[in-house]
Amino acid sequence: MTRKIAEALEAGACVICRVDQKANTITAIAQYVFRYPGNPGRTWRPINEPIHVSKDMAAQQVLKTARPVVGRATLPQSNQELAWSLNLSQGQDHVGRKPGWGIVLALPLEADERILGLIEIYDKNPNRNFSADDIQLFRILATQTTLAMEQARMFDETRQRLSEVATLYTIAQEFTSNLDLETVLNTIVTTLRQAIGCRGCCIFLLDQSGEQLEIKAANGLKPHWRKMAKLGIGEGVAGKSVAEGRTVYVPDTYKDPGFIFFDKEVHSLMAIPVFAHGEVIGTINVDDRQPNAFGPSEERLLTIAATQAGVAIENARLFAKVSREQQQTQAIIQHMADGLLLIDSQDVIISCNQALAEMLGLHPGQIINEKITSPHLPSNLASIITPTTDLAHTGVQAREVTIDGSRPKTLKIFSTPVIDDEQQPIGEVRVVHDVTKEREIEQLKDELFSTISHELRTPLFSIQGFAKVLLEEENLDAEIREEFLKTIQRQAMQLSEMVNNLLDLSRIDEGKLELFKERVAMDDLIHQSLLKLQGFAHHRKVTLNSKLPAMLPAIMGDRERLEQVLTNLIGNAIKFTGADGLVVISASQANDGLHIQVLDNGIGIPEEDLDQIFSRYYQAGNKHEGSAMGSGLGLHIAKKIVEEHGGRIWVESISGQGSTFHFTLPL
Ligand code: ADP
Repeated sequence: MTRKIAEALEAGACVICRVDQKANTITAIAQYVFRYPGNPGRTWRPINEPIHVSKDMAAQQVLKTARPVVGRATLPQSNQELAWSLNLSQGQDHVGRKPGWGIVLALPLEADERILGLIEIYDKNPNRNFSADDIQLFRILATQTTLAMEQARMFDETRQRLSEVATLYTIAQEFTSNLDLETVLNTIVTTLRQAIGCRGCCIFLLDQSGEQLEIKAANGLKPHWRKMAKLGIGEGVAGKSVAEGRTVYVPDTYKDPGFIFFDKEVHSLMAIPVFAHGEVIGTINVDDRQPNAFGPSEERLLTIAATQAGVAIENARLFAKVSREQQQTQAIIQHMADGLLLIDSQDVIISCNQALAEMLGLHPGQIINEKITSPHLPSNLASIITPTTDLAHTGVQAREVTIDGSRPKTLKIFSTPVIDDEQQPIGEVRVVHDVTKEREIEQLKDELFSTISHELRTPLFSIQGFAKVLLEEENLDAEIREEFLKTIQRQAMQLSEMVNNLLDLSRIDEGKLELFKERVAMDDLIHQSLLKLQGFAHHRKVTLNSKLPAMLPAIMGDRERLEQVLTNLIGNAIKFTGADGLVVISASQANDGLHIQVLDNGIGIPEEDLDQIFSRYYQAGNKHEGSAMGSGLGLHIAKKIVEEHGGRIWVESISGQGSTFHFTLPL
């Protein structure tokens, strides 16, 4: 247009300016200067630099009168600026001098009674006259220019709207395609900063307490501010936006006395609240180095983006929560001691935990996603998945099965149908509890009863028998009489020991094994126990020795209970050692306690029994002729007593070669 106008009016140059009435500035947006000898190379208007209207007399006049004005050069200036002498009624001449432009004709650009800008034409001839036709032509061209400018503005606006829509579309796509909170937040700040072209963009979210705002994602911000910028509700621009639930804009931070500067570079700042379920959860902040960087179009874009961001953040948080819960559930399922099998309504196995896999000796991957009717399933699984419950019924059903393997196992299976909110069956849960141990213990207990009844009966019968003879036979030999009485005494002692063991056991069960502690010299106690068992050893032709250091420190302990431990260990050693055997008791001072050993060269304990030997009722498979029957309680009780003293008990043994029982007591 500038070229067309300059040509049409045969002028030396043409400039189009835009007027910003709000800011009261005028900005040259285009110019054309004819290049021919004698013509100045340029006008004095710098392009794209706003000039305050007060500094531009031509513009001032045009704005005031909304009519064409003419200015003529009067004073030549070395810097080519023109001083204006304005007698500006249309067409009036004024004498100007060279060099530079001699005359300027300025015309307002009007649309809807509003002055959008002005056009100036320049001529080097200060005496040039503009005819009415010239002015008319100029007017027509000005109208066309106005139209062109309006169209361009509308085009720009449309283009901006389109780019906003495109940005929002990208944001929406990015937001919905991602459920990881951090990624979502980073996408928001990166996309928005790019779309708006600002210095920085960040998201403040309220922390768990709901009282403090922290930066959760940022783009263009200095990293340390990201960590340090923390605001309470009502504090700073973001805090204010959260408190009031509306956009807060500071167009010029330097002019806002209350502004909290995190970064001196920030010259304008806008915070838009982010909502989730109607509650403010934080803000999106944009900032720039320029003042007045943001206008209504940015605010509009950011407000829509903030709405989407709210939904995306909420989704990501929900997703994180659900994933966390699912992980917890998975962790529980995988680490629970019971086996677990989930079957869906289509009879497909959808979950099998590690415990069940181990019970059945298979890998969960082998059976997951298989139908329970599949012929490829491991045979062990069959007994677990045989239907136990009609899905139409509710309630738990239990069933016990025994499965084969290197060690047969007894499993108790609980089946529960899974019902959805509408009471429709959607699958079934099988919880499998390994009851092998329980069943073994029950069996041991049963055996114990028969053993005990036998054990009690044997000494009772013999006591009864001998007592009867003693009563009936008056003329018994003194020696025989004494032998009979001794037997009665021994059997009675055995009876009382057995009864005591049973009493101890129930005390242990009730946690009532009380210790009465006092200073105990263990060497004395060992001697005492040896003395007690000397007769028994002699009877079984076993040599009983001890190896004790000259000095053993005393300990705090329950004398009777410790004697019980020693008697049990030494008694067992004698019991499970054949004729001509040897039993040695030794003691020494270890780091922080006493270490007592009872060694024998008897029948030993089979390896497979070693880890069970201290279990209640347990008796090893090493019975040999002459080893008196027992209850399998002695070691169990001994272990409890030692542990109650803060010590440890263990055994080393080789079947056929002998055993060494060790225990420690803290000093
Ligand atoms: P009981 O001796 O009354 O059966 P214990 O608990 O004292 O009960 O012992 C449990 C089992 O441990 C015994 O039945 C025996 O099989 C084994 N045992 C204990 N001490 C020895 C030992 N010194 N030598 C071999 N086996 C032993």
